[in-house]
Order: sequence, then structure tokens, then C-alpha cells
Amino acid sequence: MANSVPVLVPLPLDAPFDYALPADLEVVPGDLVEVPFGPRQVIGAVWDAPSTRAAGAPVPAARLKPIQRRLDAPPLRPPLRRLIEHVAAVTLAPLGAALKLVLSVPAALEPPPPKVGLVSAEGAGATAGLSAARRKVLAALGDRRPRRPAEIARLAGVGAAVVQAMARAGLLVPLPLPERADDALLAEPSPVALSPAQAEAARALCDGLAGGPLAGGYGLTLIEGVPGAGKTEVYLEAVAATLAAGRQALILLPEIALTAQLLERFERHFGRPPAAWHSELGAAGRRRSWRRIALGQEPIVIGARSALFLPFPELGLIVVDEEHDASFKQEDGVPYHGRDLAVARARLEGCPAILVSATPALETAWRMGRIEGAAGSEGAGKTLLLPARHGGSALPDIRLIDLRRDRPPRGGWLAPSLRAALEATLAAGEQALLFLNRRGFAPLTLCRACGHRLRCPNCSAWLVTHRLRHRLVCHHCGYGRAELDHCPSCGTVDGLVACGPGVERLAEEVRGLWPAARVALLTSDQPAGPGAVAALLRAMRDHELDLLIGTQIIAKGHHFPALTLVGVVDGDLGLSGGDLRAAERQFQLLYQVAGRAGRAHPGRVLIQTHLPDHPVMQALAAGDKERFYAEELAERRDAGMPPFGRLAALIVSGRDLPAVRRFAALLAREAPAVPGVRVLGPAPAPLALLRGRYRQRLLVIAAPEIDLPALLRPWVKGRRLPGDLRLQVDVDPYSFL
Ligand SMILES: [Zn+2]
Ligand SMILES: [Zn+2]
Repeated sequence: MANSVPVLVPLPLDAPFDYALPADLEVVPGDLVEVPFGPRQVIGAVWDAPSTRAAGAPVPAARLKPIQRRLDAPPLRPPLRRLIEHVAAVTLAPLGAALKLVLSVPAALEPPPPKVGLVSAEGAGATAGLSAARRKVLAALGDRRPRRPAEIARLAGVGAAVVQAMARAGLLVPLPLPERADDALLAEPSPVALSPAQAEAARALCDGLAGGPLAGGYGLTLIEGVPGAGKTEVYLEAVAATLAAGRQALILLPEIALTAQLLERFERHFGRPPAAWHSELGAAGRRRSWRRIALGQEPIVIGARSALFLPFPELGLIVVDEEHDASFKQEDGVPYHGRDLAVARARLEGCPAILVSATPALETAWRMGRIEGAAGSEGAGKTLLLPARHGGSALPDIRLIDLRRDRPPRGGWLAPSLRAALEATLAAGEQALLFLNRRGFAPLTLCRACGHRLRCPNCSAWLVTHRLRHRLVCHHCGYGRAELDHCPSCGTVDGLVACGPGVERLAEEVRGLWPAARVALLTSDQPAGPGAVAALLRAMRDHELDLLIGTQIIAKGHHFPALTLVGVVDGDLGLSGGDLRAAERQFQLLYQVAGRAGRAHPGRVLIQTHLPDHPVMQALAAGDKERFYAEELAERRDAGMPPFGRLAALIVSGRDLPAVRRFAALLAREAPAVPGVRVLGPAPAPLALLRGRYRQRLLVIAAPEIDLPALLRPWVKGRRLPGDLRLQVDVDPYSFL
């Protein structure tokens, strides 16, 4: 009788299914196999635990469907399988959905078909009646090395059709092309010039790794230092130590825009480019990278949060750069946090994790015991502070512009004092940067005649005018339409007014004030794509621009030597909306933007604000990060908010508002009544309509000692939802829309 084997398939299911193992097949847990599933064939992973069937007797092995075949790919190792289980446990996502994060590139699970070239057939030259073109081809192939058809045509100076015809006639025969050899890593990475402080930090870091973690153990380190302090240089040393120990290193970054720069830097240092992993890689690139990583052929991988799920065979180090960045949190699908999972994977792999930031997340700082008065829970790890800037320059001087007194002239967005500072900077031949975290021309358009506001038909949101593209766009669902010349409500022609500034409008103001200045605009929706973004950043670095205007894409990582003035046009923008981390995020963002100034020369930063007394503004103006952390932490403690409590957001959505309301109310009624747990709502979500679906929200607030996923599981898992309703559960939410 055949054995039964549990197989987990990458579909939204909570447990593996049993399959029969044919007598001629051997599998071990983690092996990737093809199995019949309903009418289809799917690729799944052989799982460890016997599958648990909710009810009834196990299916007799004779009635199980058989595993079809084992794929020619390395098995998923135990740490990765445990990570999949961990993801499902902490996010409440189905186990199969967590597996799908790992098997994101099905094409990579099979070896690629060998690439085939052509050589001349034995005795082809002796064929009677060969045309001149065919003779040229045979002459070009004299060395018997297989080549691609296009290359043969080019070498011989003939058309592609000639080569094809010769292959059909058997004059040319296929032969596998040789594999491209990898560039070797430099035996000795090129040295990095480290300041004494950096050298000491690097030594401390590598000593720590050599003592325990590199010998096979988990350890957590936070590297903290002002922008430009040389945090990358320090963790490069840890990467080098990891490679020297024969293991792989993973570096996670929050944004693709930062990847190119870091890839270059690593290539300079290690003599060959690391593998990149992000959404713009393309299908072929993903397939190639996934497989090479699985086979241990890529020692260094630099990627977005999804790189966490790559099948490294010898993972020896995980670095989370810009660890405080909110984009490590995935909002759709399985709502996981990349930083938390990076730490979890390091634990499972028995390797060190390094978190890097100029402004660590409050939760990280607290967990590491980095903040005065904070507990430093679970003996977390160590913090390396890099105080001085590389080259000795100081953090720039940060000043507030009180917009209530220093008002921009009518129709403008730059206060007189900021204008004067820009004027002086440009006159001195130095560079300036203006930061406004708002894409497009204007966030709101209304009709002067009837007051009608242009809204997205699918969302409770305004349409944003993008004048460069002549479009009105919804930033939530992507809806777009051509700009209007009349009001859609009352028909008045030319009565629509754009309200508020976006970066495009700011660029218009700047060009009007300084027509001779070389001005550029940089936003994430740059129509020309990432190549154009890199070109603009280079132009700024090489001082081919005088003034750069941008959204948060300009906030991090970039080094502009001639930049001496940073103007923040709306310092209050991120503070509105009142979500849990609004103040923290705005502080981190503005701190980073400020850090762009004066990295080579003394620089200054001017922040326009209507709230000069706000703790974020006060802390920035005083350059006092510690005070901000302490105040923010105290506030969170009083409110029982993270890290002093845990949250979960439950969002019920659907096209039928009464049905959405009914179900949300039912959920609230059936909420677990447990001391230390409060359930707020249901209430309409701030985005009460999104992509045509109505949204009602419940917020669970639990004391820190409560196992929140365990509390939620019996309440929300396996619920039948009427009609098209969906229930989205987000444990530790970052978005409060
Ligand atoms: Zn109107
Ligand atoms: Zn929309």
C-alpha cells in the first residue's frame, strides 16, 4: 500500500492535504511536488506534520490521489517552512497563502530549458550546390562553437532567413550553449575608508558576529546614526564577514529607488553586482534570480520586503536598512511586517539581524532598550550609535518658519523668508532642495460657481490634478480622467479652481521666481520610469541642477555634495489624519529630509509650519531626537498604544452598504469579552468607500500580555461571509485608512 504524505499547496487553505506517494518516488519534507487539486495540477511543498483533518476519519491511503512528480528544485529548508508557519500564525493568513509568498515565481521551480545554439553539421561544407550566402555562414562557424542564430547571421553578414533555412535543411544542427560564468567576488573586498567611530562600530559588530552568530546563532543589532554617519560602511563589514564565512547575506530596503545606488556601491566593494529582488525585475529576471539564490549561487541579495521569502540555502545575515520605514509593512494580501519577519527569519536561521536607521521606529528603540526608561524587553540586543558625521560635518541647522506670521504672498506657497533663503543660495551658486510630500498639481479642485468638488467615483477621496499629464487622478484606486474645462455639476465653463499645492504647482512658482535657475521635479510617478529618476539624481549630485523639488522619494539615501539649503514647504502635512504613528512618521521623514543638507558643506533647513509648538516641530528645531522619543513614548504609554498595547484592525467591505453594516455589527456583538481587550466600532473607515466598496472598521486594543492572534482566531477565522463581503484582518496595522 502506498504511503500518504502531507502536501501544502499555495492556495488560501489552512492545512496541508494528504496525497499518496507512488512506490517509485521518494520525497522529504520541503520537496516541491506536482499534485492534482480539483480539476487542476498545482505545485505544492511536502510538509512535515501529518495533516490535520477537522472532522471524520482519515481518508484511506488507497483513495488518496497520487503525487504526480517531484520537481527538480532544492527542497524548502526547515527554517523557511517554520517561517511560513510563523507568518500564518501571526497574521492569521491561511497557511497556503503564506506558502505562496515563497513560491511566488512558479517558473523558477523548474530548471530553465538549456539554451541552444547552432553549429555546422558534419560534412555540411561538402554539400553540392551551396549558395554564396550559405558558404559564408559555414565559414563563419569554422570554430565549431555553438552560437545563437542572430549572432551567426551577423557574423556571416547574411539575413536571419538564411540561417533558419540552413537549420531546416540540416546543414546547421543544435548544440547547447555554454553557461555564462559568474564574475568572481574579490578575494579581498576593496577597503572602505572608515572614520575612527565607524571603525570601532564595525569592529564591535564583527566581533559580536564572530563570537556567536557567525558560529551559528541569532543576534540582533541596531545601527543608529545621523544621515551621512556611514551606517552602510559599517554594515558592509558585516556583509564581508558573512561572505568570508561562506554564507549568504540579504539586505532589505524599503524602496526600489534606493536599490540602484546600493547595488553600485556593493559592486564597487565586492567586485560583482549583488542580485536585486523587487517588483520591477520582470518575469525572466525573477525566475533567474530565484533559482540562482536557491542554488546558493548569489552570495548577496538586495531587495524589497518580498526578498524575505527567498529560499536561501545558507543565509548568514539579514540587514534591514531604513528599518523604521512604513513601507516594510505589506497592506494587501498577507498583511505582514517585513522588519518583524526579518528578525523572525534570522532567529529561525540562527543568523544575525541588523536593523539600520537614523531614526529607529519607536517600537524598535523601545524593544532594544535604546530609550531612557524603556524596558529593553526580551534581552533584545545591542545598539551601535554612530555619532559623528563622516568627514566631520554636523547636522544642519534646522529652523521653523511660522506661517501664521511669515505668510506666503497670495497664490504662492513659499514664505518670504524661505524665498529670501532660496534667492541667496542660488546667488551663491549652491544647491537647494524643496520638499513637499504631495504628488501632482493640486490635491483638490472645486467649482467657483456651485462649490462642487471633484471626487473619485469609486472612493471617498478627491481627485488630484496632475497638470503635466493633463489628468485628474485618484491616488487611492488609480482612477483617472482627462482634465475638465467645465464643472460636471453645473456646467459652468472655466470655473474650476485648483486648491492647495502639489509639487507641480510648486515647480511653477519656483520657475516664475527664478526663470534662469535649473529646476527639476522628482516624484514617484515620474512618467519616464526609474531610469529617469536615477538620471535626475545623478544630475543633482553632479551639480547640473540648482534646485530640486520632490516628494518623499528625495528624502533618503541620496548624497548631494553641493546642497546647502533644504526647504520643507508643508511641515504639517503628515500630522493631519491623527493616526497612531503620524507624529513619529513625520518626525522621521523630516529628520531624513533635513539630513540631505550640508553633508559636505554646512547647510540649513527651513520648515514651514502652522504648528510651531507641536512636539515634532520643537524636537526638530532643537535637534533633539531623544526628547521626541521620550515624549512620544510617554504618550503611547498613557494611551495603552503600541508598544504598550497591541492593535488589530478588522475591515468589512462590500458593494452593499447595509450588508456591510449588518455584518460589522454582528462581528462587534460577537467580540470576545476578555479583560484587557477593548473593541472599538464598527465605524465607517476614513476611506469609507474604496474601489467601489463600502468599508466599516473595528479596532481591537489589547494589553501587551495578551496573545492577540490567539484571541482573534476563533472570532474571525472561518467565518462565512454573505454575498461579496470581505473581512480583512490586520494584526499590528500601520494604515488607519
Ligand atoms: Zn459647478
Ligand atoms: Zn479612487
